[in-house]
Amino acid sequence: MVYDVIIVGGGPAGFTAALYSARANLKTLLIERMFSGGQMATTEVMENYPGFEDPINGIELAMRMENQAKKFGAEVLYDEVVELELKESIKTVTTRKTVFSTKSVILAMGGSYRRLGLDQENRLMGRGVSYCATCDGSFYRDMTVAVIGGGDTAVEDANYLSRMCKKVYLVHRRDALRAVKSLQDEVFHNKKVEIIWDSVVEDIEGVEAVEAIRIKNVKTEKLSTLKIDGVFVAIGINPNTKLVEGVIELSESGHILTDENMNTKIPRVMACGDIREKNLRQVITAAADGAIAAYSAERQVDSCDC
Ligand SMILES: Cc1cc2nc3c(=O)[nH]c(=O)nc-3n(C[C@H](O)[C@H](O)[C@H](O)COP(=O)(O)OP(=O)(O)OC[C@H]3O[C@@H](n4cnc5c(N)ncnc54)[C@H](O)[C@@H]3O)c2cc1C
Repeated sequence: MVYDVIIVGGGPAGFTAALYSARANLKTLLIERMFSGGQMATTEVMENYPGFEDPINGIELAMRMENQAKKFGAEVLYDEVVELELKESIKTVTTRKTVFSTKSVILAMGGSYRRLGLDQENRLMGRGVSYCATCDGSFYRDMTVAVIGGGDTAVEDANYLSRMCKKVYLVHRRDALRAVKSLQDEVFHNKKVEIIWDSVVEDIEGVEAVEAIRIKNVKTEKLSTLKIDGVFVAIGINPNTKLVEGVIELSESGHILTDENMNTKIPRVMACGDIREKNLRQVITAAADGAIAAYSAERQVDSCDC
């Protein structure tokens, strides 16, 4: 049996692609390696997805997306895709257990936030440790937070958080920021942001929630403690592109390059969501990408002689 569309990844991008594709009567299979919702399912409270005046839990939104896609006939399989053969007319998707054939593939494997690698980080995730200022910043209104990192995201996060927080520390391991000049200018003039140079986080402290971070100056080796209510780790995101390295064109940061219709350079291979090179990585933009990718798949599958 040959599917019309196989979607790799069951985050908001993948499930929206599945919904649109199945609703367009394409024979659709979505394969997810862990649990429905991807990164979204790690968010307890989401207050910026349109249509939900009261915040919605990430897992609940994921279940709704999955059920909606299934309602229109999408098949969902929980297994890991370990190999992709994308260049042939009929493409092959290999999971740990099965080999599938398909006319088109939508890549929606998302990304994983880089972690500091500290023991307390996992335990306090969602209880003061966050990887997304746009998502969680408003929970820290009038509080003190620290942002870890020195690139565009970290500096942007520090500026963004200063609009709602009482005080923001920006902790960077070097003596100069990597962010673009305009962001640096903004942060240097921002009275609410204090930059802590040459420093790395050694530990996160707190019983029920984050209470402080322990930092070490890498030049003097001096240890100190910053009392804070939240820590935003902004040291980058790793796109899950291992399966397509060397096959699909990637940006400098390792994200998949697509056109505005989510097409890669390989016919009938689309990419959507956080795995793609773009400016804003959120649930709403992932879902929008997924809809567009499915529409592109529909048009190309209809017109191909495969
Ligand atoms: C802690 C946290 C809080 C956030 N809060 C918000 C918020 O409040 N509002 C908001 O709009 N955004 C928020 N975001 C961002 C949002 O979750 C992401 O932008 C969005 O989930 C991206 O969707 P996606 O489908 O592209 O990728 P992902 O959500 O990353 O999903 C990709 C899926 O692909 C699967 N996958 C990867 N490789 C394979 C493989 N080989 N085989 C099978 N499956 C595979 C993964 O297991 C994963 O389930 C948050 C992110 C985090 C981490």
